[in-house]
This record gives sequence, C-alpha cells and structure tokens, in this order.
Amino acid sequence: MQANDYQTWAKTTAIYPAAGTGDTPELMYLALGLAGEAAEVANKVKKIYRDTNDDPNSAKAQELKQGTQDELGDVMWYIANLCTALGTTLEEQMAKNNHKLESRKARNVLTGSGDNR
Ligand SMILES: [Mg+2]
Repeated sequence: MQANDYQTWAKTTAIYPAAGTGDTPELMYLALGLAGEAAEVANKVKKIYRDTNDDPNSAKAQELKQGTQDELGDVMWYIANLCTALGTTLEEQMAKNNHKLESRKARNVLTGSGDNR
C-alpha cells in the first residue's frame, strides 16, 4: 500500500467528537491520540525489556513485539489523519524529512541538537 493511499483510506475511518468551543478540535484530538498511541508503543517496548530481557526469542517476547507492531499501525493512523487535517500528505512529509536528513548527513550534522541545523 502506498502512503498516500493509506492516508486517503485512513480519512474514511476518522470519526471525531463534535466540535466544542475550541477552534481546532480536530487537531487537538489527533495530536492527543498520536501521543497516546506513541505511549502505547513505549509501554510495549518497556514490557519487552522488563519481561523478556533474559530470553528475547521467547513466545512472550514475540507476542510483545507483535503488539508493538500493532501499536505502530495506530500511530500511523493518527499521523495520516494529522497530515490530512494540516493540508498535507504523508508522502510530502516523508520527502521533506528525507531531504532534511540527507542534507544533515551530507553536512555531517546528523548528531547534535536544534531543529534548524
Ligand atoms: Mg493502540
């Protein structure tokens, strides 16, 4: 599946709460949802570390890794719908991120900090 096809599909499954008093309820809902799903990814990885560190090939480890993959899909859904809400596409943002990081790599500034290096 292509990224923009996924984004178009994701929009068909997006059901947001009714707008309240804020002027950007959709963005707020999506950003909070993204943070929540990212936390679910982190929690699954924590459990991999906590519960399977001694046996990374155990059935439990495989189950947790599969669960982590499932959470990544949830993260993708929120990212896709955030792109739609912000008037951009997944592929456009992927290309821009690729360009930014290739530029940093070429200038040998991949490490370090700061958004505009
Ligand atoms: Mg989830």
